[in-house]
Amino acid sequence: MFRIGIGYDSHRLIEGRPLILGGEIVPHSAGLKGHSDGDALCHAITDAILGAAALGDIGRHFPDTDPQYKDANSLLLLARAVGLVRDAGYAIENVDAVVLAERPKLAPHADRIRARLAGTLGVEVGAVSVKGKTNEGMGEVGRAEGIAVHAVALLRRT
Ligand code: MG
Repeated sequence: MFRIGIGYDSHRLIEGRPLILGGEIVPHSAGLKGHSDGDALCHAITDAILGAAALGDIGRHFPDTDPQYKDANSLLLLARAVGLVRDAGYAIENVDAVVLAERPKLAPHADRIRARLAGTLGVEVGAVSVKGKTNEGMGEVGRAEGIAVHAVALLRRT
């Protein structure tokens, strides 16, 4: 039996912070603002796997009003969500994500991001897909004011 989940997240880009996506630093002049490290890719995937298991969302499990999650490493939050999903009786089959960013180009970093995420998700790197896409200059993302991420996850009952 399979279960599918969807996740979405967006964060504003600001100067003076490292850009962290999927737990990896991506060289850029600005980073993602957030109570945590702002890792929108980890947040979207966390919501996708929690959603597939109908376990709520990242805000319910790791509220941004809680000081313990200030500057939190979002990869560790994702690891905890993986544990919740496993405890609920599911294994992760695969994850796919689209990172909407006018810049920087993500393609040169996609493979190390995939490898990092695969290690945290406990799956083969071939089960994790991360694709970068611009917004063709349209809207907030197109003006490089922020980065948005869509993710889907497929779970299998264990
Ligand atoms: Mg977020």
